[in-house]
Amino acid sequence: WGPQDMAKRRFVESRFVQLAESFGFREVSTPTFESLELFTAKSGPAIVRELYAFKDQGGRDLALRPEFTASILRFYVSDLRSRPKPLKLYSTGNVFRYEEPQKGRYREFSQVNAEIIGGAPLPSDAEALALGIGTMRAIGLRQVKARIGNIGVVRGLDYYTGMVFEIDSPNLGAEKQVGGGGAYNLAEVFGGERIAQTGFALGLDRLVMSAEAEKTIEPPRRLDAYVVPIGEGAQRKAIEVLTSLRAAGLGADIDLVGRGPSKNLDYANAIGARFAVLLGERELKAGRATVREMATGAQREVALDDLADAVRNV
Ligand code: AMP
Repeated sequence: WGPQDMAKRRFVESRFVQLAESFGFREVSTPTFESLELFTAKSGPAIVRELYAFKDQGGRDLALRPEFTASILRFYVSDLRSRPKPLKLYSTGNVFRYEEPQKGRYREFSQVNAEIIGGAPLPSDAEALALGIGTMRAIGLRQVKARIGNIGVVRGLDYYTGMVFEIDSPNLGAEKQVGGGGAYNLAEVFGGERIAQTGFALGLDRLVMSAEAEKTIEPPRRLDAYVVPIGEGAQRKAIEVLTSLRAAGLGADIDLVGRGPSKNLDYANAIGARFAVLLGERELKAGRATVREMATGAQREVALDDLADAVRNV
């Protein structure tokens, strides 16, 4: 993923993270690989065909995680059982499945995941659904379809115990399912007590595709200022100016190549800086800088003391 793709992925992921935090979910992180047995205990031996399973140098059977739920329930049983209930946990990251790749279906992809452990089933199911659907809304998606049922409609998923749901983004075509989840019972499978669990995962790659289709992605914050020292004598002061802009909380960058002013302006344009701050020796002697608005080319001189405000407010 290049910078433009990552900006889109970050936009979508951060909307989920913000919403999950605002719902009282807290982040956990589990390892990228686990003992293979964790996944066979959850899903049976046939699951191995769908995994990236391997032996490590110590001869242990391991697998790259195909999802988060098993790891989080293992973590719950080993470390988190004494925490106040309900536990509301979320994770984000890459997962791996040995699948036939096609559009929207990859062997390495990313999910955002949430689990509620130890709440009463009905309100916990509602809370999980609210976060799942709320995430779609927070991304700005309008074409959202959720299908809700119970285990009687779903076969082959032994650990599901009650409510199940799937969320679709109809604009995606064949791979339109962006997420799913429900109430399940895994803590017992991993040696813990019987305790209610509800969770879901949304596929980040597909969320991004839907957000692209519905044009909801907001571009990342542009760089406020690109600092251009003109002449040897301006170098040192330019770094001070850069540092003060950064200290003021602005996005600021500086020439690292030693280009001339016009090449530097081309570069400032290419990286999408809002302003170029030109520092010539004459201006610096007067304690001033030239601020150039990149979009219009309009230039004005400001006192260095007012530079941060000029770049922030103009
Ligand atoms: P699951 O864990 O199978 O319920 O999948 C949850 C979501 O992850 C799906 O609805 C998809 O959005 C996404 N997903 C599952 N498998 C893949 C894959 N191979 N490539 C991309 N996204 C996937």
